[in-house]
Amino acid sequence: MLLGAIADDLTGATDLALVLSREGMRTIQTVGVPPAGFDPANVDAVVVALKSRTIPSSEAVRMSLEALAWLKAAGARQIIFKYCSTFDSTPKGNIGPVTDALVKALGTDLTIVCPAFPANRRTIYKGHLFVGEQLLSESPMRHHPLTPMTDSSLVRLMVAQSGLQVGLVSHDAVARGVDAVRDAFDAAKTRRDRVVVVDAISDRDLRVIGEAIADFPLVTGGSGIAIGLPENFRRAGLLASDKTAGQFAAPAGRSAILAGSCSEATRKQIKVAIDAGLPVLKLDPIDIVEGRITVGEVLEWTLSQGDAVPLIYSSADPQDVLAAQKRLGQERAGEVIETFLAQTAIGLRGEGVRRLIVAGGETSGAVVGALAPAALLIGPEIDPGVPWTLTSGDNEPMALALKSGNFGAADFFLKAWKMLT
Ligand code: ADP
Repeated sequence: MLLGAIADDLTGATDLALVLSREGMRTIQTVGVPPAGFDPANVDAVVVALKSRTIPSSEAVRMSLEALAWLKAAGARQIIFKYCSTFDSTPKGNIGPVTDALVKALGTDLTIVCPAFPANRRTIYKGHLFVGEQLLSESPMRHHPLTPMTDSSLVRLMVAQSGLQVGLVSHDAVARGVDAVRDAFDAAKTRRDRVVVVDAISDRDLRVIGEAIADFPLVTGGSGIAIGLPENFRRAGLLASDKTAGQFAAPAGRSAILAGSCSEATRKQIKVAIDAGLPVLKLDPIDIVEGRITVGEVLEWTLSQGDAVPLIYSSADPQDVLAAQKRLGQERAGEVIETFLAQTAIGLRGEGVRRLIVAGGETSGAVVGALAPAALLIGPEIDPGVPWTLTSGDNEPMALALKSGNFGAADFFLKAWKMLT
């Protein structure tokens, strides 16, 4: 293993894992810190997904240090602390406190803060973070329910959150290339900066910065900062230049789709699948609560579909969701569906399903929690941000595609299978 990453949420972890995989690293993602004995054989990068963005900072620090200890023990030569490209955090953290703790634990004299992700229109200029054409503080992020971002200056944000001295490497240096960035790092060290915000407005900038930080034990930023890192390992002869990352032989077995997302995109995908003739079973939370449908009945229905790919969904339009929420309460309605779909996933695995698509972020979290694979190997990308993954650490691996509700083209449920060999 070459590169280890600590991500502060699950979908952010997948995002980073995809960047590394695209750049030629065989990458796995784990949900939480893996058990001590878990051996990440034959991989170049491991991304540990935590859920530490908005929890108390002492807890976030504890979890991150635990992840660091595991990654170091597994052989990681460089560590990325990955957070959101809109720097989602509160004045208390957790980006600052976790960075401070990782800097201390790794004994490094300088690290960078670079959440830029130009492909998603997140850029940094003179230390200010932009979302598209807007400053972060003028973007919709200023109204975020958990982490409202009302300042765009990454230097000020880090000063507020971190106990370390914070500086800036501005775009003038980045535009001049790798040597100029290295000189700027040396100047920062002379000033006794321990953290520097680095400007980046393009992927070219990220590759320049990536080369300049080849020997940094710790890098912090968004997924974008990973773009230039795999090449460092390739240059050092540690990473093969063939692009076999992102490929795996999918296990043979039955296929199925579970959808718990009520997003517009997922409902459209369901409609396209129905029009194409896929057998469907619609679940209603009230039927579940009142015992009119059981997991056993769903499995029986699934098995009676022969070779066709069954689609089991609870996705409903906003009025129906509201009606169910009125009857059961918002939280309970969600939980009922999530638990039912998670148990269905376990049942499907028991019946020989080895290829499974799950639609919905929370729904995916519930299903992965129930299936509890030790890790997910990142495979081919079906649509932007959604890869096939292969569970590992199990005797019987499964191909899983975990789709955030709004992701994917209208024919996602039809075309995804074609990418499995
Ligand atoms: P998305 O990625 O689109 O946000 P999620 O799975 O994260 O999808 O969230 C959808 C939530 O809606 C889940 O908690 C799910 O259990 C809940 N849900 C799904 N179907 C229904 C329904 N018919 N009525 C009420 N809640 C539902």
